[in-house]
Amino acid sequence: MKYKRILLKLSGEALMGEQQYGIDSNRLLQYAQEIKEVAALGVEVAVVIGGGNIFRGVQAEQVGLDRVQGDYMGMLATVINSMALQSALEKLGVYTRLLSGINIQQVCEPYIRRRAVRHLEKGRVVIFGAGTGNPYFTTDSAASLRAIEIEADVVLKGTRVDGIYSADPEKDPNAVFYSNISFKDVFEQGLNVMDMTAFTLCKENGLPIIVFDMNTAGNLKRLVEGEQVGTLVSMEDLGDTLKETVDQIQPGSKTDRK
Ligand code: UDP
Repeated sequence: MKYKRILLKLSGEALMGEQQYGIDSNRLLQYAQEIKEVAALGVEVAVVIGGGNIFRGVQAEQVGLDRVQGDYMGMLATVINSMALQSALEKLGVYTRLLSGINIQQVCEPYIRRRAVRHLEKGRVVIFGAGTGNPYFTTDSAASLRAIEIEADVVLKGTRVDGIYSADPEKDPNAVFYSNISFKDVFEQGLNVMDMTAFTLCKENGLPIIVFDMNTAGNLKRLVEGEQVGTLVSMEDLGDTLKETVDQIQPGSKTDRK
């Protein structure tokens, strides 16, 4: 396996399937099945799910509610989605634990990093609910934070698109698909991979991100087995590597000087 411990980020919206709101049971089952297949390979799997299919903090202000209150509502929405995924996985015979950033003792364990790691070591799929437990963050930030805390090898951001393009491929026919890109280039080109907080956390901790299409069956498995799926964002700056090589062969370049 290319990756031993992964953190899979799924958006709440993806759980809606073709619906306008809530959870689509077929989509839920499909995700559970994909996760089961990967866990069966011996990969340690942690999952963060968003809550956008139920509530987002920014909506609160639109309806005259306090933003912080709205963010907590959003976090609770992620717990609902997490509980649904937990049930779907357990129906398929997968052992799971749901750890929440907000204490809801009747339904989830509190988030304790060492405990999360222990569950993973024992082969349980760990679902992190309630985001970071703090308002003004997103579940992308929660995914980056938890991934760093549990020392995951990679954050896998499951989306509806197959990866990162230089521009929106639906609007720009000249958009180029990137199979590999550096953090630096994502930043310099202003590409939208994750929100800045989440992205910076990954960048500063050298944690690679893969953006891939979660709705194509088998993609997750192919990815952990090392196949090229989606776009890998990493520290590796191919541009600079090339430049250094050219530098070395030029007479009078830095490498020639004593
Ligand atoms: N949220 C938060 N802190 C967190 C994670 C989430 O306040 O650490 C709130 C925030 O209001 C957010 C909502 O929960 O809008 C749902 O999460 P998100 O929008 O990230 O879900 P997704 O877009 O992935 O479905």
